[in-house]
Amino acid sequence: MLIESYDVDISVSTHSDEEFEYEAIAHLNVDIGPALPYLNATLRRGIYLPNRPALSWRHEGHNIGFWARRIAVDNLESREAAYAMLERLVGLVNRVWVQRDTLEPDPTTHKQLQPLEVHRSLPGLNCRACGEATCFNFALKIVGAQADLTRCTPLYEDETLTEKRAVLEGLLAAKWPAL
Ligand code: SF4
Repeated sequence: MLIESYDVDISVSTHSDEEFEYEAIAHLNVDIGPALPYLNATLRRGIYLPNRPALSWRHEGHNIGFWARRIAVDNLESREAAYAMLERLVGLVNRVWVQRDTLEPDPTTHKQLQPLEVHRSLPGLNCRACGEATCFNFALKIVGAQADLTRCTPLYEDETLTEKRAVLEGLLAAKWPAL
């Protein structure tokens, strides 16, 4: 195991009287810099900056940052959710580290997925079945990891869209889909 213990800092950002979010940081007892290229190899939508070193990742609507000595995550609904998310992220780093001999480290900075790339393969029906007014709005949500592709039901119901669905699933695929 790489990370054996960590200290937690939780803060609250207030956006209005009713709108607030918790942000959490795990201060690590160990330098996880050597693990970041392996993590970069597994999180296809992560952005790795080797000079810092740091790795940012959008997942389930959260901005997540991995640095040598800390892991930070925002947009959490409670203190309990903050502790649980940090535990999942620490677990992810530890799993990748344990399996590093089976992984090819990736020291490159991946290009960020662009909304137009996603939009190109959506059905283009603007039918609102996904809950968004247009396919482009849905593409924005997908890129921001705020929506799941399965919300676009035509993609799964219309056999003529199978190829487009495969392209999108390829773009969005991560080798570690769940924390
Ligand atoms: S459900 Fe699919 S086709 Fe319909 S608006 Fe949303 S993204 Fe476009």
